Amino acid sequence: MVKVCSPPEVETKRRYLVTGAAGFIGFHAAHELKKRGDLVVGLDNFNNYYPVSLKRARAAVLAEMDVPVVEADLNDLEALQELFSECAFTHVLHLAAQAGVRYAARNPGAYIQSNVAGSVTLMEVMRVQKPMPILVYASSSSVYGLSKRFPFSEDDRADLPASLYAATKRSLELLAHSYYNIYKMSVTGLRFFTVYGPWGRPDMSVMSFSRNIVDGKPIRVFQGPNSTELARDFTFIGDIVAGILGSLDSASPSADSTTPPNNRVFNLGNTQVHTVTEMVNALQEMLGIKANVRYQPLGATGDVLRTNANITAAHEAFGYTPKTNLHEGLKQFVDWYFKYYGPDGKKRAADENGYIPD
Ligand code: NAD
Repeated sequence: MVKVCSPPEVETKRRYLVTGAAGFIGFHAAHELKKRGDLVVGLDNFNNYYPVSLKRARAAVLAEMDVPVVEADLNDLEALQELFSECAFTHVLHLAAQAGVRYAARNPGAYIQSNVAGSVTLMEVMRVQKPMPILVYASSSSVYGLSKRFPFSEDDRADLPASLYAATKRSLELLAHSYYNIYKMSVTGLRFFTVYGPWGRPDMSVMSFSRNIVDGKPIRVFQGPNSTELARDFTFIGDIVAGILGSLDSASPSADSTTPPNNRVFNLGNTQVHTVTEMVNALQEMLGIKANVRYQPLGATGDVLRTNANITAAHEAFGYTPKTNLHEGLKQFVDWYFKYYGPDGKKRAADENGYIPD
């Protein structure tokens, strides 16, 4: 493997490994950590779940800031061992995962491989480092499953997953708990709620609807029983990154004799819930093009009808306070969309042309 950490950096700074750094959230988090002056190294397998050109473009922006994104899989034990021994990471921000709820029904193996097996490989490498790094990892609002107790609080039940994706995220929380218990690894899980914004994910509604609206194609909006509208606690990427940094900065060291290591899970949402139709209405207004909406019964997708976060715990622990409402956040997304995809929103790379989101 090419050298990514040079000796003076290793001696002086907080050293972060960001897994999934070519992904949507990892890209933004790595960017902000680097801006603070930390040493940041990314890892990503650049899989083709959605257009790889977008992942390469994010990695290119990071490379310009001196954040290398090592192309390796979480399950590549040797690559991980080499990277840890070279860079002596103090913190691991573990965001790499097979994401997406609907794709899980068709590709269960990808979720088990990345989210469960890959996470264990990572924690196995982490636990033998001296000193042991601090772990902050991505969980998801989907762990609340079909709960109808709104807003969701961290101590609510999380043992009734509605999708295989949710089951793997809950598994990660349980596995992290075991590394805390046995090895005194400091572990913090962040349950993200429907994240959107610039450089977003093409498989998620904000981006896939935008693409179809500019292309003049219909968009599918799912409805629950009795035409119930799906509603989400849409959370802007800038707020999520602020929560990630807050959780990293407030984390206790692993296996420290004086400070007990962390074993925490926090919701990171916005708290304002909007129906998908409200989101579409705002989007079509900003894009200046009318959406052709086709309502469709939800069926067995594994999606839940509504999400809503109680964020008191994150607020108390590290002052988490979301600042961007849906309207402002969509505006920032649309501005980026036209910058990235050109004035008509149609300048797509070869692997994005004809890409059909789930
Ligand atoms: P993303 O798909 O854009 O990013 C994940 C990245 O991980 C991708 O670039 C992918 O190539 C990489 N990856 C996947 N499997 C890997 C493996 N085995 N080895 C190395 N790299 C691998 O997704 P995102 O939206 O940035 O999500 C980041 C994290 O947050 C994920 O863990 C996701 O499950 C979680 N999450 C996201 C949301 C959201 O709304 N975006 C909500 C809840 C939870």
